[in-house]
Amino acid sequence: MQSLFKSASLKLTGWYLLIIMLISLLFSVVIYAVSSSELERRLPREGFVIRGVFVDDSVLEAIQRQRAADARRSLIANLTILNVVTLAAGGAASYALARRTLRPIEEAADAQGRFIGDASHELRTPLAVMKSELEVTLRNPNVNKQELKALAMSNLEEVNNLEQLAERLLQLSLGSKLEKTVIEIMQPALDAVGKMMPRAEEKNISIENQLTSAQALTNEQAVGDVAAILLDNAIKYSPEGSTIIIKTFTEGRSSYIEVADNGVGISTEDQAHIFDRFYRADDSRTKGESHGYGLGLSIAKQVTNKLGGELSVKSTLGKGSIFTLKLPSSPSPH
Ligand code: ADP
Repeated sequence: MQSLFKSASLKLTGWYLLIIMLISLLFSVVIYAVSSSELERRLPREGFVIRGVFVDDSVLEAIQRQRAADARRSLIANLTILNVVTLAAGGAASYALARRTLRPIEEAADAQGRFIGDASHELRTPLAVMKSELEVTLRNPNVNKQELKALAMSNLEEVNNLEQLAERLLQLSLGSKLEKTVIEIMQPALDAVGKMMPRAEEKNISIENQLTSAQALTNEQAVGDVAAILLDNAIKYSPEGSTIIIKTFTEGRSSYIEVADNGVGISTEDQAHIFDRFYRADDSRTKGESHGYGLGLSIAKQVTNKLGGELSVKSTLGKGSIFTLKLPSSPSPH
């Protein structure tokens, strides 16, 4: 990839330089042609007297021709120097310009490369777990029904994880525009609660709805997806038997969905990174919990940006977190 950008930079430099040199040479030819005809015109047509001596036409013409030839030679020398300087300075400037033009593309390609690397790493981990479990079981000649069932269950869990990963990777890669209409955001919030309820019940966690009417110019499905991701995390990172509160409300020109939990919380340092792809905060705090792939919040952030909203977090380590989705309640005046 690096060498590809190097050769592309050099090619672009070549093109820029070619254009600069063509212009420079064209100007040089024009300057030379104009100056030459100027020198021709200055040649006198008739003889005249210098210091009392009549100078014949032909002598004078010879002197003038000599002078014109000298002037032309020095013009050619000056134009050559000018073109050499243009070549050197133009070369350096073209290279700098080519690098500058290609940098954003190079950065995007780097980011994509990193993303693919991270994604394949995430895919390898559950596959490796499944493979080793299958190998161990196959090597055991006395494997019983119960062990086979345990294997199937463990593998099914990994397959579910992989399915979620594939779904989220697909969501990340879809760059489609979201249609926006004015909606009541209580609805997608309620849908998300309904979707996440079985998971909450598994951990004996109760979800308290504090939903008040709030309108937003947004996409219902997308808001529901973000709310579901926030609730999913709140459940994942909260202890058994705790309570999660989901609120909807309006303030000023914005409407809000807030998800608050009394879970493990997030350190200030981690708060700066949790919206990055594949970022997971310190595993030791969430031991025994089901781990995600560090994609949920980056998807939520990407969707929020598309909606023209803001996603923020307030959290205290060991106490809990509040995630807030802010959405414009009416079209922006711009
Ligand atoms: P994951 O799939 O790992 O949950 P996310 O992108 O959704 O990925 O979240 C990134 C990280 O942010 C998580 O690994 C977790 O450490 C932290 N996090 C997210 N939500 C919460 C929360 N409600 N409470 C505590 N930590 C959280």
